[in-house]
Amino acid sequence: MAGTLPADPTPWHERRDAGLSDSTMRRTIGTVTKRFSTGQRQVFNGYPEGATAREAAVKAKRQAIRDLDTLLPRLRDSVETNGGQTYLARDATEAVAVVVKIAQSRKVQRIIKTKSMLTEELQLNQALQEAGLSVVETDLGEYIIQQAHETPSHILAPAAHKNRDQIETLFRDDAREKGITPPNSNNAESLTRYARQRLREDFLHADMGITGGNFAVAETGTVVLITNEGNADMVTTLPSILVSVVGIEKIMDTWETLGTIIQQPAMNGIGQRLSSYTTFVSGPRREGVVEGPVEWHLVLVDNGRNLLRGTEFEDVLSCIRCGACLNVCPVFRQVGGHAYGSVYPGPIGIVETPLLTDWRILPELPTVGCTVCHACGEACPMEIDLPHHIIQLRQEKVRRHLVASGVARSYRWWAKMWATASGYQRSLRWARWGQRLYLKQGTLHDAPGIAHGWFVSRNMPPVASETFHEWWLKHRQGGT
Ligand code: SF4
Repeated sequence: MAGTLPADPTPWHERRDAGLSDSTMRRTIGTVTKRFSTGQRQVFNGYPEGATAREAAVKAKRQAIRDLDTLLPRLRDSVETNGGQTYLARDATEAVAVVVKIAQSRKVQRIIKTKSMLTEELQLNQALQEAGLSVVETDLGEYIIQQAHETPSHILAPAAHKNRDQIETLFRDDAREKGITPPNSNNAESLTRYARQRLREDFLHADMGITGGNFAVAETGTVVLITNEGNADMVTTLPSILVSVVGIEKIMDTWETLGTIIQQPAMNGIGQRLSSYTTFVSGPRREGVVEGPVEWHLVLVDNGRNLLRGTEFEDVLSCIRCGACLNVCPVFRQVGGHAYGSVYPGPIGIVETPLLTDWRILPELPTVGCTVCHACGEACPMEIDLPHHIIQLRQEKVRRHLVASGVARSYRWWAKMWATASGYQRSLRWARWGQRLYLKQGTLHDAPGIAHGWFVSRNMPPVASETFHEWWLKHRQGGT
């Protein structure tokens, strides 16, 4: 069953131009992505076993995806044996309905959450809020964008597009509204202290916690959460009801295979050997234990994932959401995450958006969002062949007639002309003649039709007055 993802209906050129004209966003995204990608390189430089560990992680993850039919029921059995309840949601609608129902049937009013791209994909917060529930994000980046009523711009660092001044303004507005003391400066310590104080109240008064899951271990029925702030420890222990929403592709079979992959998100995402906190949830609170949820519900979400198994795109399911492909992408670094219009930006977003949903969703992304520089393919720790997949998507979209008719016609005409030597030479003669209208000081500044876009930010040398081919014919005929 195909899934659904939120998609921004604003045309690409408007989304792109909004990104390009936001100098603050470009500066902050540039700084963050550079720091992360440098960190990724450095952590492997100082860790000779890193490459072998990465290979083992890829192997384990690929095998887990192949074994999903057995791992899924095994995970459910283990969780239920531990006292948890499991649900399998085929799509976003089913997943959201399960979570809303759990909350409403238990008269929940206040919910706290850990960061989860899957819940962004499901638009879970909106659904819970429409049902009259209060939802507070407790990851600092998510907390910031929730205050700003925005969506994440980076899958690992959701507020990577905001600088400290903007965050201070948000927190000051929030403090004014609540009648509490605002942060006393825009330094990181003061801003973090403000968020911590505000969140403490929410942690203590929440009725329900919602988490995502970086991995789930079938052997013991354990959901694994990787954070750098420790907020997952609070979300999973303080409220009496806990709901974990996890994609079916996150299941690993045993703790041994989990051990081969658990370092990868932090090493490749932020350049740390291991994340600061790793939280394990294996069931509701046991008798005699003073903390932990009384109820634990695990919602396993398909939303288009199962359809990718057995296809040439199966490796996409190995994504560990480390963000390394975004950090090295020259397009992402310029336009930022919101320009993609999908909940998943960057190279992985270009590939996943049509695959998880519908080929008509944001069909322009594989063409306009990628320069085919192959940097993402090299950065991806899970060896997902992103550049190749982007080319495959371009081909598929042409086959499905999802490319604008003017563009498709132009390329067909171009292919036909350049398929023969005489056609190629004729096109050069025409170009040489036509370019006179667009030449300024010996440089080509514009062109008609779809070629105009190329010249918006660059010029080109003109077509030579004599090509090598013409020169060769002339001299050969002249006997030199
Ligand atoms: S595609 Fe690869 S690099 Fe990109 S987020 Fe997923 S695992 Fe990380």
